Amino acid sequence: MLDATFACPDVTTFCRLDGLGLVVTGQRLEPDRAILACQVVDADPGDRWCRRCGCEGVVRDSVVRRLAHEPFGWRPTTLMVTVRRYRCATCRRVWRQDTSAAAEPKAKLTRAAVRWALEALVLQHLTIARVAEGLAVAWDTANDAVLAEGRRVLIGDLARFDGVSTIGVDEHVVRHEALLFRMEVRDLHRLVVVATG
Ligand SMILES: [Zn+2]
Repeated sequence: MLDATFACPDVTTFCRLDGLGLVVTGQRLEPDRAILACQVVDADPGDRWCRRCGCEGVVRDSVVRRLAHEPFGWRPTTLMVTVRRYRCATCRRVWRQDTSAAAEPKAKLTRAAVRWALEALVLQHLTIARVAEGLAVAWDTANDAVLAEGRRVLIGDLARFDGVSTIGVDEHVVRHEALLFRMEVRDLHRLVVVATG
């Protein structure tokens, strides 16, 4: 691999935060956890404009949104995302920067963390307790996020059989917290579960 091209080291891309519309501005590394300070990348310039009256908002202040991200090296990675709040000078409406690329509204996990949790449970057969430990969140938080994502991916995605060329069936005794995944039909090329029964 001596001929491989290297890019400059970059925490944002290493932690796959660029795909979530975030940029890392600081890091705090501790033996058992990593905390990354992040800002929202303004992908949508319309974010600054009031949706009620169309006037430009002025920055009022900012709040910090805490999100559990996927762990790296089994060390839980938590994001402290600074989110700007705007106020419309005309109608006084207040709103926040859009962070929907990073996480669902009110969610405690990033979209990448939810995906990691689901794959850890289904593909790696980790327990919810171990998933929660990896994310440094409560058991209920991990469980709720995994079940919601499982429903969305496995049941809500009607196109889940698109492109499937080889499938396998993995039937196994499951833990009580994972009854949703009693039997898995997997796309062996993409290593994704396409159905459960
Ligand atoms: Zn307004």
